[in-house]
Amino acid sequence: MEEDLTIERLGTCHYTSPFENMIQETGFIPDDERVVAITDKGLIEKFIQHDIPIPSFEKAGPRRKVFFEPGETVSGIVTCGGICPGLNSVIRSIVMMNYYRYNNKRIYGFRYGYAGLVKENGYDVQLLTPEIVETIHTDGGTILGTSRGNQDPVKMVDRLQELNIDILYTIGGDGTLRGAQQIAEEIARRGLKIAIVGIPKTIDNDISYIDRSFGFETAFSEACDAIYAAHTEAKAHDNGIGIVKVMGRDSGFIAAHATIATNEPNFCLIPEVDFDLDGSNGFLSHLTRRLLKRKHAVIVVAEGAGQKFFTNDKEEYDASGNKKLKDIGLYLKQKISEHLTKHHISHSIKYIDPSYTIRSRPPTPNDSIFCSQLAQAAVHAGMSGRTNVLVGYYQGNFTYIPIDIATRRRKKIDTNSSLWTSVLETTGQPVAMVNS
Ligand code: ATP
Ligand code: MG
Repeated sequence: MEEDLTIERLGTCHYTSPFENMIQETGFIPDDERVVAITDKGLIEKFIQHDIPIPSFEKAGPRRKVFFEPGETVSGIVTCGGICPGLNSVIRSIVMMNYYRYNNKRIYGFRYGYAGLVKENGYDVQLLTPEIVETIHTDGGTILGTSRGNQDPVKMVDRLQELNIDILYTIGGDGTLRGAQQIAEEIARRGLKIAIVGIPKTIDNDISYIDRSFGFETAFSEACDAIYAAHTEAKAHDNGIGIVKVMGRDSGFIAAHATIATNEPNFCLIPEVDFDLDGSNGFLSHLTRRLLKRKHAVIVVAEGAGQKFFTNDKEEYDASGNKKLKDIGLYLKQKISEHLTKHHISHSIKYIDPSYTIRSRPPTPNDSIFCSQLAQAAVHAGMSGRTNVLVGYYQGNFTYIPIDIATRRRKKIDTNSSLWTSVLETTGQPVAMVNS
């Protein structure tokens, strides 16, 4: 790890935090308190041997002195990209923290993602009060709305200036964070003192150096219900097959966790692990063997798995320029049916795609706690003048990470990890389903 983990600061902190009278002395996090950013013991020893500082993240939390004046600081909140369980909980906690802890009464919600930051798009900003956000955490979605599609950072910063925003909280995925970086660059170009604080949203849990993202637990819990349904369907028929497609564009964390949690799937297919369909070691042969033995089978497939089967199809993109994935679930359904029919094996396939019901769920209680803590850490970051910063969670600690570090590469399942080993043990599927 060679990245610079220093967090940009807008300036010296002169104001005393209003937390002075609310929390114990030990509740404040000193600026030099850090969280080691590597877990490999051998690597850590090498750093020590060579007397090189071990890479570490800033620990998140309240600072004794803050950069922005409590009671006078103006904040903005924007949510972008796809919806994810917990967005409203994050919004609510940012509002509550500002309102009651830092005494900041002006918190503006921008409507429909970055589109709401461009004045000519005509969306009004919404003043967010405790009354407005009181019960939103029990609802899925985002009260602010969201969007995809590029917006001009010059126009977005114009709007921030016009509204006298001191801190902008951007809640979204990789695209949103890249957008946030562009906004921060434009702010720096103008020499303004506006902080940009990101709260990472990835239902796939695929951001580097962040062990857990909000909504992930809700997502895989919901996926579990779909898997139980698929199993019930599959068992009810002779050679019954249940296919469940879950989220996971590049990383199969939801598929893996839901597989282990339910114990039902016989195959878990993820983007990180290549597989063939045909041939003696291909997926279809293994599935057929399983069916002949047990008369039913459950398959969990992450949406990004098996995309190699579509290389001849026309590529399509969404408004933000993300490549649209082809439906691997439907493809598998068709291929399985063709294969079994060819071998005169009667069968019944049920395909379940719970993606949209998963995305729109309110968070589980555990996720809800996590959302609040992320939001609180974000507000501390903003008030202390940290910018171009993302709130992370690593090895049991909330951390501050430079935005560009987290967006540089995706976190993927390590197929040598205990997580993937558990999947193999739970499903009984072969380590590899490719023909050499
Ligand atoms: P998810 O993909 O998880 O739903 P996301 O944040 O990645 O979330 P996107 O639609 O890709 O969702 O991006 C959200 C917003 O960020 C959009 O308005 C998009 O235009 C903007 N954005 C995406 N990529 C960039 C970029 N490279 N530079 C500036 N803005 C970007
Ligand atoms: Mg994205």
